[in-house]
Amino acid sequence: MKSPIILTALLSISLLSCAKETPQVKHKSNMSSSKENLKNIQVVNEEDPICHMKTAEFLKDTAVYKNNTYGFCSAYCKDEFKKSPEKYAKK
Ligand SMILES: [Zn+2]
Repeated sequence: MKSPIILTALLSISLLSCAKETPQVKHKSNMSSSKENLKNIQVVNEEDPICHMKTAEFLKDTAVYKNNTYGFCSAYCKDEFKKSPEKYAKK
């Protein structure tokens, strides 16, 4: 039976490569906080212009139109807004 020796060799190789790669992976952990940051974005609309949900509670996506940041509950509502922003934007 050769397999235990091969297994040990593979294990030590993977352990070595793991140790080398670990420092590079670290900065990825910042990504998870992006959801929280979205709530701090100042949007000009109190409600989603498409479905009229409160942007303060349901903000998931934003779009900038004429230097104003509009908040939306979903990517779907943002897309609807982008189709005809002049219809939904504040005057
Ligand atoms: Zn919506």
